[in-house]
Amino acid sequence: MSFNIDEIRAQFPVLDQQIFGKPLSFLDSAASAQRPVAVLDAIDYYYRNDHANVHRGVHQLSQRATIAYEAGREAVRDFLGAPSTKEIVFTRGTTEAINLVAYAWGVPNLKAGDEILLSGMEHHSNIVPWQFVAAQTGAKIRVIPMDDRGVLDMEAYAELLNERTKLVGVVHVSNALGTINPVKQMTQMAHKVGAVVLIDGAQAVPHCAVDVLDMDCDFYMFSGHKVYAPTGIGALYGKKALLEAMPPWQGGGEMIRSVTFESTVVAPPPTRFEAGTPNIAGGVGLAAALGWIQALGMDAVAAHEQQLLDYGTQLLGNFDRIRLIGTAPEKAGVLSFVIDGIHPHDVGTVLDMEGVAVRTGHHCAQPVMERFGIPATTRASLGVYNNRADLDRLAMGLTRVMELLG
Ligand code: PLP
Repeated sequence: MSFNIDEIRAQFPVLDQQIFGKPLSFLDSAASAQRPVAVLDAIDYYYRNDHANVHRGVHQLSQRATIAYEAGREAVRDFLGAPSTKEIVFTRGTTEAINLVAYAWGVPNLKAGDEILLSGMEHHSNIVPWQFVAAQTGAKIRVIPMDDRGVLDMEAYAELLNERTKLVGVVHVSNALGTINPVKQMTQMAHKVGAVVLIDGAQAVPHCAVDVLDMDCDFYMFSGHKVYAPTGIGALYGKKALLEAMPPWQGGGEMIRSVTFESTVVAPPPTRFEAGTPNIAGGVGLAAALGWIQALGMDAVAAHEQQLLDYGTQLLGNFDRIRLIGTAPEKAGVLSFVIDGIHPHDVGTVLDMEGVAVRTGHHCAQPVMERFGIPATTRASLGVYNNRADLDRLAMGLTRVMELLG
């Protein structure tokens, strides 16, 4: 498949609609992306032809459903460059994957005096679980600061790392700022002090190729719905030795080898961490989405989004009253900004009336807002289907915002 933006847009039926009589410009993919026909069709086909519960059935439908669902695991393995499907755990998404690591790795391995080192630009989902774990274990959270561009301070990071650092948790791409963090280098540095490294890939996987082997991180996770797959499905990559040493974090069907009322023998990973009937159609949709975007080519996707990001940055630069929040040299498709004297929610409401869908608020990254001394931003975020016209319409909408709200 070649990278033809008109052909790509045509594969997303939802984009073909009017909002208040204006064509839709969807600039909210960082919150959740849209689904191409390939994904819609795969889910539809699965429900029309193959649906049954997975893994336990001997009948044909169950076997077909199992094959389709497990193909999703193989698709994730391939997408992340992981050595084995035994290292891929299906989860509801990034949040659940981080909670899994926090409870199944963090609680048994952390104790008073240990340090959990997080970056100052983490999403709440990579802060709050660690706060719960810190409260249970007595471990302490420390924070890597960033500069005014939204670039992590690597000298401060080096100084913060020490023999008490047991876990480093870093977002690969910041959802609030767009910063692409040097996760490979950060992983190498963390490993020198023996820390385990968790990388939150929620915003990275839709925008760039990921290779967990090359990165050498210990845990990596993402959500399907940000990479053109359904909601309610995501994945955790964990190194085999770590996953094997971790106890289950939820009990129930599927995750066991044998059960009596006296005791239970748990299954090996990844099944150990997948209690209950999984999101089978989600796995099917995820396989379709990953196959679809890989066929486009992650390098072509990244190049397209980079061009749009440059164009959008230039357009916003024409407005004196707009301040971009997040100006790191290494950035993915996020344009977060504030307008002097106008609240982001008002900006978002006027843009909506112009057919331009953006997100406003703290983007589940309140510490980032605090760092920049603002309550919220307006965020336009890019997906593979966006074009220059979407950004032109954003700029026109912003002119309207200033006309209306002064
Ligand atoms: N991490 C980052 C960087 C995110 O942007 C998000 C969602 O916006 C999450 C984690 C949480 O993802 P989910 O809500 O799909 O679990």
